[in-house]
Order: sequence, then C-alpha cells, then structure tokens
Amino acid sequence: MRLIIGLMFLFFTVAKGEIKVVTTYPYIASITKEIVKEKGKVESLAEGIFDPHFVVPKPSLTIKLRDADLLVINGAGLEVGWLPPLLNQANNLKINPSSVGFLDLSNLVNLIDKPENTSRAYGDIHPEGNPHFHLNPNNIPILADAITQKLCRLDQYNCQYYKNNYSSFKERWDSKIKEWDVRMSPLRGKKFIQYHKLFDYFLLRYGLKSVGTLELLPGIPPNAKHVDSLIDLVRNEKVDRVLQDVYHPQKPANFISEKTGVRITILPHDVGAVPEAKDIYSLFDEIVKRFTQ
Ligand SMILES: [Zn+2]
Repeated sequence: MRLIIGLMFLFFTVAKGEIKVVTTYPYIASITKEIVKEKGKVESLAEGIFDPHFVVPKPSLTIKLRDADLLVINGAGLEVGWLPPLLNQANNLKINPSSVGFLDLSNLVNLIDKPENTSRAYGDIHPEGNPHFHLNPNNIPILADAITQKLCRLDQYNCQYYKNNYSSFKERWDSKIKEWDVRMSPLRGKKFIQYHKLFDYFLLRYGLKSVGTLELLPGIPPNAKHVDSLIDLVRNEKVDRVLQDVYHPQKPANFISEKTGVRITILPHDVGAVPEAKDIYSLFDEIVKRFTQ
C-alpha cells in the first residue's frame, strides 16, 4: 500500500511537470530559484521595497498561495502580522504550518537580540529575537540546504537535480564570501547607527559595531529626545555612518547628519529593494559595495 501511495505521489509531482513554490520574501525566492531552476515556478509574496514586517495582505497574494506545493517563510515572527489571514483565505492544506509543504527557515539558525524583558505588548515587534538573519552570508547555504531537502521530499524524481544545483550554488557562494570578506575587512571595528535592527547579523559577521537605532524599540519610531541623544552618541562615539533602509523615512537620519556631518548610507535589505540587488548574489554585492564606497 505504501508503495502504491508512493508511486501515486511520484506520478502526481512528475505528471504535474513543475513544482510550485511560494516564498514570503524575495531573498528566499532567489535562493529557491538557484535550486529549482527550470523544474518549477518560484514566486515571492512580498516585494523587496516593502517593509517586511507590514506587508499588505492583498487578494492577489491569496491567489498565489492557493495552488502552491511548498511555502517557505522567514519565520521568527516576521510574517506574524500579515501571513495568517492569507493562509486562512487560501485554504490550501498542502502548505499549512503542520504540513510537509511548509518550511520555516528561522528554525535553522541561531537568533540574536532575544529581548529579556520586553514583549510585543510593549511595542517590540521582535519578541522572539532578531528575524533578519539572512543578512549573515554564512546563513544562506544553511537555508539553501534546507530548501533542497524539502524539495527532495516533495519532488523525489528531481532530487538529484536539486542536490546538484545546491552543490553548484554552495561552491559559487563560498567563493563570493571570500571576496566579500576581503572587501569588508578594512571596516572592522567601525561604529554604525541604523534605523531598525535590520543589519545586525551583517554587522556582527564583519566585526562592525551597532551602537544605536533610530527606533526606540523595534517598531517604535524615534521622538525628538531620542534623536538628540543619538546626535550626542554620533559625536561621542565617532559613529562612522547612519545606515538607512529603503522603506523608513529618511528625515531623522538627515537631521542627525546635518547636525554632526555623519554620512548616511542607504542599504538594500532584500532582493529588489534597490535596482542593483537583482538576486541573492547581487544583494550582498550591493551591500558590500555601499559599505566600502
Ligand atoms: Zn525587524
């Protein structure tokens, strides 16, 4: 009986011709495309220019989920404000959180910035820890490997193909990491302020210091008193730059820059956040380029 079910399963996926993967964010879609290549269709729900915490759950996103075979999410609470209603409306049993067609990438990495006393009730939107772990380049092959294993489970016929693609990806990625490490090494020890703790994993990976955020807490915008304290911080700590993302207002960073002369660097946090960040490789290429300019 198990063999028959197995054969039916195999027939189902092969007969269908292509696996349909939906991801919550473009960076996950880009990694998945490196593994799936022409054997399936990969789509992201959010766009890179969006605030990843507050994606608008439009009906067009529900349609994407309706016939997906696999849903890959970032997790660690990043989608908690917008994905559940979409999953309810899509009513696709294959991609429910308890189903085989669901993958939460946050289970594969160690989260940093876990708050000790705060909770969502006090306004912190990251009570589980910092969910922006994809900006540590060392985490990318871990995520790609988990996606490969999941694809193998759902589409056994093409498993070796996916594994070969993963090997090629890993090889190319490892050589890119060597390149980025060389380019980033002169910045070691420099201090930065960012709007939101988007780049903590990247900063930690390259020995750079995050000394403050424009937000009071993750999700809580700055007030005048806080901005004044950051102006003092920039002067006292000799902060190298303010890191600005593409979706928060730039006015507070501009004000701090006008008062202190500190430079502002706009960084992409995801594929598509700036035109140069076309895929997972060029996302990191562009971040490194903007840090080193
Ligand atoms: Zn966040």
